[in-house]
Amino acid sequence: MTKILDGNALAKQIRGEVAESVSEIVEGGGRPPGLAALLIGENPASEVYVRSKARDCEKVGILSRTLRRPDDCPQDELLALIDDLNSDPDIDGILVQLPLPASLDEKLTLARVSPEKDVDGFHPESVGHLWLDEAGFVPATPSGIMEMLRRSGIPLEGQQAVIVGRSTIVGKPMGALLLRENCTVTFCHSRTRDLPAVCRSADLLIGAIGRPAFFGPEHVKEGAVVVDVGINRITEAAEVERLFPGDEARRERFESKGSVLVGDVDFTRVAPLTSAITPVPGGVGPLTRAMLLVNTLRAARLRQGIAVTAS
Ligand code: NDP
Repeated sequence: MTKILDGNALAKQIRGEVAESVSEIVEGGGRPPGLAALLIGENPASEVYVRSKARDCEKVGILSRTLRRPDDCPQDELLALIDDLNSDPDIDGILVQLPLPASLDEKLTLARVSPEKDVDGFHPESVGHLWLDEAGFVPATPSGIMEMLRRSGIPLEGQQAVIVGRSTIVGKPMGALLLRENCTVTFCHSRTRDLPAVCRSADLLIGAIGRPAFFGPEHVKEGAVVVDVGINRITEAAEVERLFPGDEARRERFESKGSVLVGDVDFTRVAPLTSAITPVPGGVGPLTRAMLLVNTLRAARLRQGIAVTAS
């Protein structure tokens, strides 16, 4: 029997816990956590992400502020803006929405965020803490996946985990976290030889490459757990019908919006082989959003001298 890992339900649970902690802080005379998002340029997807992050904050009592600058924002101005937020007492977390316009230096920009406000976990200091197994901020997507696996009772110790994708925001930190839980971790990428065979060795397969429905039955061992990180938009009706034959709800969504989201995994063909799998949408995505709130709460607690649990 395949278990569908419901990211929406888990994210709701996590948001409820964050909301409760925020109320406790405020009732105890503390300051509500504050998150600042920097949105540079006009990227429609980034607009949507930042708006939904602000809405999430509002739901749990975190104050959010969005600062916008045009595409041609000079590097110095962006760094000065980050400096202001670094010293703003009401702001606990700073996120720089990626991608930045090509004229801006991403590494330089992310490294300017104060490590104590680095709720995205992209600062080199946070990356170092992660690989040294020290407490610190961990990027939201891999920490959301860990939370999902933990809350779903999926065993990790001694399991073969194969991660396909080696980005600094998903693949690499995912590997560090799984290693910490005593998985045997294999990283794959575009140069991996015989990818299907490597994937078939996995008890836990994480697909994070950004290729619609790339992973098929040839990549999956019977009974494996499959986590689909990919978010891809498809705009062809025939493709929707091929990937989700007879799925009326998806067809209707396609007809009303002109596109639907699919993951990196060919869900229809792969799900029956697995013991558990995340859907797209409604799997990893909602947890990523929830973990940003968890990280912001953690930053606020640390900055107000309130105890936090290790992560
Ligand atoms: P990147 O583009 O930064 O990295 C993609 C990785 O996939 C690279 O390591 C690349 O290998 C590898 N890759 C690409 N094609 C293949 C292939 N054919 N075979 C094997 N490996 C391949 O992507 P991200 O990590 O930022 O994102 C990955 C996906 O996850 C995207 O769809 C993104 O939208 C989604 N995403 C979803 C989130 C969520 O909350 N659900 C959050 C973040 C991302 P190489 O290094 O050799 O080039």
